[in-house]
Amino acid sequence: MILVIAEQRDGALNRASWEALAAAQQIGGKIKVAILGVHLDRAAEELATADVAEVLVLDAAALEFYTADGFVRALTSLIEAESPALIVFSHTYQSRDFVPALAGALDRALITDCVRAVRRDDTLVFSRPMFQGKLMADVVPLGPAPHIVTFQSGAVSPDIIVYGNTPAPKRTVPVIFESSALRQRPEPAFQEAKQVVDLSQADRIVAVGRGIKSAEHLQLIQRLSAVLGAEIAASRPICDLGWLPMDRQVGSSGQTVAPTLYFAVGISGAIQHVVGMKGARTIVAINKDSDAPIFEIADYGVVGDLFDVVPLIISELESSP
Ligand SMILES: Cc1cc2nc3c(=O)[nH]c(=O)nc-3n(C[C@H](O)[C@H](O)[C@H](O)COP(=O)(O)OP(=O)(O)OC[C@H]3O[C@@H](n4cnc5c(N)ncnc54)[C@H](O)[C@@H]3O)c2cc1C
Repeated sequence: MILVIAEQRDGALNRASWEALAAAQQIGGKIKVAILGVHLDRAAEELATADVAEVLVLDAAALEFYTADGFVRALTSLIEAESPALIVFSHTYQSRDFVPALAGALDRALITDCVRAVRRDDTLVFSRPMFQGKLMADVVPLGPAPHIVTFQSGAVSPDIIVYGNTPAPKRTVPVIFESSALRQRPEPAFQEAKQVVDLSQADRIVAVGRGIKSAEHLQLIQRLSAVLGAEIAASRPICDLGWLPMDRQVGSSGQTVAPTLYFAVGISGAIQHVVGMKGARTIVAINKDSDAPIFEIADYGVVGDLFDVVPLIISELESSP
């Protein structure tokens, strides 16, 4: 059995949970999905629409606010009771924080940041990028089950989710510890994080690179993103120069994104940038150099000066009904 751990905030599931579920369905076999927190009715109902054997609901005051301590404790008991062969997470900030501790507590193998799972003879092989995405390694977890894997954002499209004919059964799993037993105290509701943009959840992104030439010209990109209803992102030099904050950087040392639409404006397409955005469903590149590597992965490419092309796109979008 594969146990997928979904993730929610304020009761709303994130896109990455569906990607993890899609990855598990691609691997095949019996799947259960678990959700942790409080007020989980809506999230559990949504998960139950997928073709899974069961939705396991861990609804407890001790899990209201995320803590690595609480999640490791709750999941350790759940995993011992359910005995899955494989546990699948999405590779989010939250799972990065506590899944290594969970693997340590269970003393089981963990493979993070996977982009693919294939079955070779009877062995599940997971592919993950290494060395800033320059190499793709095939990794086989060793030792007793359960093995634990996290899937990179955008690696598996949630569009391939198979839904059930009837809702899957839901089961409440008791959580037997109180909040007072936790050794960590969360800060009140991620106040600092309000400033931080979680680009991994953005549906549309306009990303800007060094082709923009100076900070004053960024207003052109702001206009394009406004008319598209998109978040603004950037290549590393733009953030290094302080033209946009660091949380807007996409790439191997920034965020990994998987929007439905990604505009790359004046971005060359260096490997360190591409590893962070190649999971986008539709990539539009605007670059004056027809040999720019970004065109190798673009679905639509415009060879031209961004200062000519972007205003034309904006006026076309503004005038369309
Ligand atoms: C360890 C390490 C980690 C890194 N991590 C990241 C990362 O996370 N994210 C990241 O982005 N980079 C990262 N980099 C940097 C990366 O290698 C590239 O240097 C960077 O992505 C290049 O940014 P760019 O495409 O904006 O700039 P450039 O490579 O300078 O490209 C600018 C592009 O704009 C085009 N252009 C110029 N003028 C115009 C115009 N008027 N109209 C249209 N097109 C125009 C040019 O043809 C060119 O293709 C990392 C590097 C290292 C070594």
